[in-house]
Amino acid sequence: MYEFDYHQPKSVGEAADLLAAKDNAKLLAGGMSLLPTLKLRLAQYSNVVDIAALEGIAGIKRDGATLIIGAMTRHYDVASSDVVRQAIPALAALAGGIGDPLVRNRGTIGGSIANADPAADYPAAVLGLGATVVTNQRNIAGDDFFTGLFETALEPAEIIKAVRFPVPLTAGYVKFPNPASRFALVGVFVAKTAGGVRVAVTGAGPCVFRLTAAEAALSNKFDASAVDDIAIDPGTLSSDLHATAEYRAHAVAVMLKRAVDTATQAAKT
Ligand SMILES: Cc1cc2nc3c(=O)[nH]c(=O)nc-3n(C[C@H](O)[C@H](O)[C@H](O)COP(=O)(O)OP(=O)(O)OC[C@H]3O[C@@H](n4cnc5c(N)ncnc54)[C@H](O)[C@@H]3O)c2cc1C
Repeated sequence: MYEFDYHQPKSVGEAADLLAAKDNAKLLAGGMSLLPTLKLRLAQYSNVVDIAALEGIAGIKRDGATLIIGAMTRHYDVASSDVVRQAIPALAALAGGIGDPLVRNRGTIGGSIANADPAADYPAAVLGLGATVVTNQRNIAGDDFFTGLFETALEPAEIIKAVRFPVPLTAGYVKFPNPASRFALVGVFVAKTAGGVRVAVTGAGPCVFRLTAAEAALSNKFDASAVDDIAIDPGTLSSDLHATAEYRAHAVAVMLKRAVDTATQAAKT
């Protein structure tokens, strides 16, 4: 690890000021992605701004048809929250399937979506539910948030404060986990909302994306049989040491059907 100056601001405003004023500064939340990067010397920052102790940036509440989760809320707290389980059980299940107990007890929803790992789980929920990312500067629609491999619409000194999830009629998330890390080799989030059906795929490409052909088919008939004939083009998918693009294309089709089944079952309970 290279040397850096460590800062522990007391408010989001103070953290934003530090990010803007200090040379080569980086936010630290749960540290589950940033710290390994620093320890392996894959990145070097002169200033690290720790937001773990900030007031008012963690917590879960429901406001009518919206579930609001503070950026510093740990994966474990989302997974075990009765409010989340009641409003969006698929989101609680998604959080409970992230990594291992250490990662779930340290990692945060804000850190996960800011990091925008192509195999991360939360991006599928943000896109699949049409969530809104609330920062210290503005509200960003989930559709506009993820822009590429480890890239988001966030400006350098912008801090995520919360994520606002519309409560769907029903939803399901199923991933094929990498057996070592539990990251999604492929993960599919399906949501049936009052405004239509949304399907988001993570793990398969450089960035989470919507599967519009599946959305159209499921809008006609919300049943796994409706997506039997959906062709997944491997041409735009990733190939790496974990899986080829063709393998991922097949896995997307399988996870899609399972996610629809999960959502259908959830609607009955
Ligand atoms: C062994 C292991 C297994 C894992 N398995 C999975 C898995 O199965 N599924 C999965 O989805 N993830 C997995 N992860 C990643 C994990 O979910 C991390 O918690 C997450 O990616 C980063 O969250 P963090 O709070 O630790 O962020 P940090 O590591 O502290 O920060 C990550 C990045 O986000 C930025 N950031 C943090 N908070 C904010 C904010 N509020 N506003 C703006 N920028 C911010 C930081 O500057 C940094 O660039 C795994 C990680 C490990 C180490």
